[in-house]
Amino acid sequence: MEQQQRVVVCGGGVIGVCSAYFLAKMGAAVTLVERSSIACAASGKAGGFLALDWCDNEPISELARASFNLHRSLANELDGNQAYGYRPLHALGLTLTEDIQKQRSITSSSDLPAWVDGPACNPKSMGTTETTAQIHPQLFTRTLLSTAVARYGVEVVIGEVEMVEVEGGQAQGVVLKGGDRVIAADAVVLALGPWSSRLPLLSSLFRVYGLKTHSIVLEPRDPAAITPHALFLTYYSVHGGKPMDPEVYPRPTGEVYLCGTSVETEVPEDPDQVVGDPESIKVLQRVAALVSSHLEEGEAKLKTQQACFLPRTDDGLPVIGEIPNVKGCYVATGHNCWGILNGPATGLAIAELILDGRSSIVNLSPLSPARFVGNK
Ligand SMILES: Cc1cc2nc3c(=O)[nH]c(=O)nc-3n(C[C@H](O)[C@H](O)[C@H](O)COP(=O)(O)OP(=O)(O)OC[C@H]3O[C@@H](n4cnc5c(N)ncnc54)[C@H](O)[C@@H]3O)c2cc1C
Repeated sequence: MEQQQRVVVCGGGVIGVCSAYFLAKMGAAVTLVERSSIACAASGKAGGFLALDWCDNEPISELARASFNLHRSLANELDGNQAYGYRPLHALGLTLTEDIQKQRSITSSSDLPAWVDGPACNPKSMGTTETTAQIHPQLFTRTLLSTAVARYGVEVVIGEVEMVEVEGGQAQGVVLKGGDRVIAADAVVLALGPWSSRLPLLSSLFRVYGLKTHSIVLEPRDPAAITPHALFLTYYSVHGGKPMDPEVYPRPTGEVYLCGTSVETEVPEDPDQVVGDPESIKVLQRVAALVSSHLEEGEAKLKTQQACFLPRTDDGLPVIGEIPNVKGCYVATGHNCWGILNGPATGLAIAELILDGRSSIVNLSPLSPARFVGNK
């Protein structure tokens, strides 16, 4: 009988959890190590928007299409009682402007959902219930992990991975902070999001940095008025300057999520230290009130104000595959603004790569870390 492969997955965001889920489902003995709590970072604070074809003609198009379909089948299996709020929805592009001159020059339309009753115009369909959908990302990530624990015996360890132990060019496991605990494994998966560059094994090959982005969650008094339409805005502020691109996602819970204000800043060492800045939160509240009278202060309660970091790479693509010259050490990171969408296919591809020697769900070669060899 073949020996069960031991795999340690580092990072409890959507990418680590999807990897742990599929590895365990395919028969590996999996330990997942998370420094803080499951989905404490971008994977818990994202919008959760999913699109079949928005990445077409890009190197991640195969990944995105496979993942959109995997989300649908996972939801059939795991989201029966709306555990994480999967639902298909419409997506609309809109112009939102406080500039009176611009307002005059653009035509208003009756094609807007009734709750979008502010100065929004030029609606453009960007997706239908066939091609766009949503989930609650934190509930998705936690549901997937609790299923993996209950069904497939995944072990969860709260601890900080300090380094990968390598001997003779082969990963042996990971060392946790303080060096007092070593988790031995046949393979290691590094899914550390914007914290990836803190491990020299990765930063010696490529860079992952974070773009801090703010979001709020509102609880409108009349949630029944809000229809399932995701809104992608081009917002011209009264102060002028470049337009912003906030996004609005009504959720099946009746809550409305908005995100959009980004700043380039250092990723703090501790994920729990990531907080939103009040000015950026105010801008999002202003946008909400402009979009809909149902989202004005007094009509909607501000339930959550937060920020998180998009994990980005220099070429804008995720990095998924085995680290050159370190057998048994794999990386899955850099998913930028599509990590919730691309989590399932990334997790399955990593599981196939480790356990079968190749990924059948998606061709990983354009995303391999090998593309950075010789760049530094
Ligand atoms: C505002 C916003 C909205 C977004 N909306 C969408 C959307 O609608 N659709 C979509 O597809 N994507 C969206 N994204 C992108 C998506 O959230 C990310 O691509 C995805 O969450 C990245 O997941 P991850 O697992 O790589 O990283 P993270 O979620 O950052 O997880 C990394 C984990 O690693 C842990 N960790 C770090 N260092 C260590 C260590 N040394 N040891 C152990 N654990 C460690 C951290 O604590 C963290 O839990 C959005 C992102 C933002 C910021």
